[in-house]
Amino acid sequence: MESIQAFDVSIAEHAADSVFITDTSARVIYQNPEARRVFLFSDEEVFGHTLLDTLHQRYPDGRPVTLEQCKVYRAAVLGESARDFVWQFTGKDGRCVYASCTVSPFFHRGERIGAILFAADITARRKAEQEAARSAEKLQLAMEAAEIGMFDHFVGERRLAWSPKLKEMFGLRADADMTLDMFYECVHPEDLEEVRRVVLESSKPGTDGRFHYEFRALDRNDGKERWISTRGRTHFDEHGQAVRRVGVAVDITERREAERRVQEAAQHDSLTGLPNRALLYEYCMHLFAQADRLHADCAVLFIDLDRFKPINDLYGHDVGDKVLQEVARRLLQCTRKEDIVSRLGGDEFIVILPRVLGKEDSETVAQHILESIRKTIQLNGLQISVSPSIGISLYRKDGSSISELIRYADLAMYAAKRAGRDTFRHFIPEYLHLAEDRVELEQRLKEALRSGTLQLLYQPVIDISTGKPVGAEAFIRLPDNNGSLLSPDRFIPIAESAGLIDEVGFWVVREACRQQQRWQDSGLGVPSMSINVSASQFRHPEFAPRFIAAIDEYGIEPGRLEIELTESALMENIPDAVSKLDQLKSRGVRIALDDFGTGYSNLGHLTSLPLDKLKIDRSFTDNLESNENGKSIADTILGIGRALNLEVVGEGIESEEVMRYLRDHGCDQVQGHLFSKPLAAPEFESWYRSQLGLYH
Ligand code: C2E
Ligand code: MG
Ligand code: MG
Repeated sequence: MESIQAFDVSIAEHAADSVFITDTSARVIYQNPEARRVFLFSDEEVFGHTLLDTLHQRYPDGRPVTLEQCKVYRAAVLGESARDFVWQFTGKDGRCVYASCTVSPFFHRGERIGAILFAADITARRKAEQEAARSAEKLQLAMEAAEIGMFDHFVGERRLAWSPKLKEMFGLRADADMTLDMFYECVHPEDLEEVRRVVLESSKPGTDGRFHYEFRALDRNDGKERWISTRGRTHFDEHGQAVRRVGVAVDITERREAERRVQEAAQHDSLTGLPNRALLYEYCMHLFAQADRLHADCAVLFIDLDRFKPINDLYGHDVGDKVLQEVARRLLQCTRKEDIVSRLGGDEFIVILPRVLGKEDSETVAQHILESIRKTIQLNGLQISVSPSIGISLYRKDGSSISELIRYADLAMYAAKRAGRDTFRHFIPEYLHLAEDRVELEQRLKEALRSGTLQLLYQPVIDISTGKPVGAEAFIRLPDNNGSLLSPDRFIPIAESAGLIDEVGFWVVREACRQQQRWQDSGLGVPSMSINVSASQFRHPEFAPRFIAAIDEYGIEPGRLEIELTESALMENIPDAVSKLDQLKSRGVRIALDDFGTGYSNLGHLTSLPLDKLKIDRSFTDNLESNENGKSIADTILGIGRALNLEVVGEGIESEEVMRYLRDHGCDQVQGHLFSKPLAAPEFESWYRSQLGLYH
C-alpha cells in the first residue's frame, strides 16, 4: 500500500468522528484514532481489506452483507457522494455500532484515489430511540390490555385520531373516520351539555388544560348505554391558544353498575325490596317541596303489626320473614302508584300519601290497610293472622319534617294499640305529653332502682273452702312525687322497652324472698308467695338459674314460692318455656298461669306445660252474677282445671255472690278486695295475724 503519510490526513487525525479512507478497490488504507477507539481493529487488521470484510461483515443478527446491498458504499467507491445515511457496523468485540455516515470521493493531488468515509457514532441515540419505540409499543399493549382507549385531536382539524379500542367503546369500526361532531353524537343527550362545558372549560387560556369527566355514551350499534371516564390534557401554543387535546378513556360501565347496585341495596330493605328509611327521607324532601307548591296535604301512616313477635318465636324466622313480605305486598296493593310504602325495620312500615284531601282521605286508606292485612295469611299449611295498628300524622297540620311526622304517627300508633289494637288513630298533641310521661317515668324508675324506693304490696290469697289465707301475691309499686304509688300497668311496659325489666324483675324476686324469709323468721309462716313475671323477663336465657340463685340466697324453701306467668309469655316459645319451667319445678317452685282466658291459648299446649295453677282473669269474675259470658268462661276454666288436675284461683273478687258462685263451681282459691286490697308488708302482717286469730 502507498504510504499513508503521503496524504494529508492531519485533519482526520483529530476528528471527533471515525474516518476511513479506501482506495479505488474499496480497500481501507487509513483509519483515524477515533475509528480505532470505536471499532477496536488495529491498522493491520483493516488495512488492505474492504470495510465490508471487516467492520461490516455481518449484521448483528448474522446476515451477511454483500457489496450489492451497500449501494451507497459502492457508489462512493465509484466516485459518488452520499450524506447522512445510517450504517450498522460490527466492532471487533461484536458490538453493534450505528453510525451516521457521509462518504465522498477522496482526491490526492487532483486525482481520485479512493473514498473517504466519516462515521459519527449514534449508537446511544439509536438505542434510546429503539427503547422509546419499544416502550411506546409496551404502553400501547398495556393500554389495550387495560382496555384503555386513546384520543389525540388537533384543535381546528376535522379529524380526531382515535385508537381502535376507543372506537370499539362507542360501537364504531376500527377504521371509522372520527370527527368531533360524530363524537358529540355518541354522547347521551342528557350528558351532552356537561361534556361540552368541560371541553370548553379546559380549553380556556390560562387554565392548566387538564380535564376529567364521566359521561354516558350510546353504542352506535345497539344503542346501549355505556359509562365512559375520560382524562387528559389540552396543550396550548405560545399564545395560550389550545392546539391539541390528548387523553385516554376507559369504559366504567361495570363499575357504575356496581355502584348503582350498592347504592340501591343501601336504600332498600333487602327482605321486602321496599325503600328503607334513608330513601324515604330523600323522597319526602321532594314530596314536601311539591306539596308546598301545590298547597296539598301529605299523610304519614305508621303501621306496626300486632303480636308479630310470637309468630317469629312460634314458627321461626323464615315464616316471620314471609309474613313481612306478604304484608309488604298487601300494603303495595292497597295504595296507589304515587304513594310510598317503606319498611323502617322489624314489623314497622311507613306509608306516605303525597296528596290527601284532609283527614278522611287518609282514614279511607288506613281502613283499606286494616282490612287487607287482617285477612288470614296462608303459609306452608299454616294459617296466620296479623293485624296492624296504624297512627296517622299530616304534613303541615302536625309537623313539617319527616322525622317529626314519623314520630307523631308513631305516638298515634301507640294510641291505636292502647285502644285495643287493629285500629288507627290520628295524632293529637296530647300524645306528646304521654311521650314525655314515658321519658319521665323511665327516669323515675331508674332513680327508684338506684335509691331502692320501689315497693311491694301483698294481697292475701284465700282458700275458698276454709276462708283461711294460704298465701300472698306480691305487686310492685313505683312511688311518685306526691307520695302516691304508680301501678305496674303504667311502668312495666316502659321498663320492658327501656331494657330495665330484668333489673326490676329480679329486684321483685329478691324483695319477695327477703319478705318471705322475715315472715318465716317471725313465725308468720305464709305458705306461698306469688311473684309476677313479665314475658320479657321470662325470655331471658338465664331466667331460671338466676331465680333459683335468688331463692338460695335467702334460704327460702322453694315450695313456698310461686311464679305467675301470662299465656303470651309461655306461648312465645313453648319448648323454651317447658325447659325453664322444668328447671324451676325440679327445685319445687310452683307455676301459675295468670290472667287465663284473656290470651289466645291453644288449649292443646296447656297439657305440655308443667303448671300447678290457673288464675281466672278479673274481667271474667267482674259482675259474674249478671255476666253470662263471664260465667261460661269461668265454668270452662274450672272444667279445664279439673280435667288437668290444676288448682283454679279466682282473681279480683269484690262480692260475696261471685265468691259463692266460684265456690259452688269448684274453684279452689280466691283473692280480691272482698278480702283485702294489696297491702304494705306491716299491714299485711297484722291483717294476716288477725285472720289467723279469727280462724284459730
Ligand atoms: P295480676 O297479676 O293479674 O294482678 C291482679 C291485679 O288486680 C293487681 O293490680 C291487683 O292489685 C288488682 N286487684 C286485686 N284484687 C282486685 C279487686 O278485687 N278488684 C280490682 N279492681 N283489682 C284487684 P296491679 O297491682 O296494678 O297489677 C297489675 C298487673 O301488673 C298484674 O296483674 C301483673 O300482671 C302486673 N304486675 C304486678 N306486679 C308485678 C311485678 O312485680 N312484676 C311484674 N312483672 N308484673 C307485675
Ligand atoms: Mg298475678
Ligand atoms: Mg291476673
